[in-house]
Amino acid sequence: MYFVGTCRCCGQGLLGIRICCEDEIGLVLCEECEAIWLEPTCTGEPLFPGQPDSTCPRCGRPIWHPPAHWASQDEIDRLDWTEYLLGDWENES
Ligand SMILES: [Zn+2]
Ligand SMILES: [Zn+2]
Repeated sequence: MYFVGTCRCCGQGLLGIRICCEDEIGLVLCEECEAIWLEPTCTGEPLFPGQPDSTCPRCGRPIWHPPAHWASQDEIDRLDWTEYLLGDWENES
């Protein structure tokens, strides 16, 4: 999982880059509290998924189930978000 920082909502979760849809739109998603930002700079108030299925606030698909996935390096390159990466962290999902 490639991440861009630590979540300032919960103070502990890593902010991973998540691809939520087939059309490869990127989100920044906290793996702990599910705070979402639509930009890698994480400015402004976060969004949160719809409940009970944790659906993406933009496209309405479940953010924790395929086709949603943590972005690969190639996908991050295509988003042009590479400059925001702080590192990568092994994650099963
Ligand atoms: Zn968080
Ligand atoms: Zn989405």
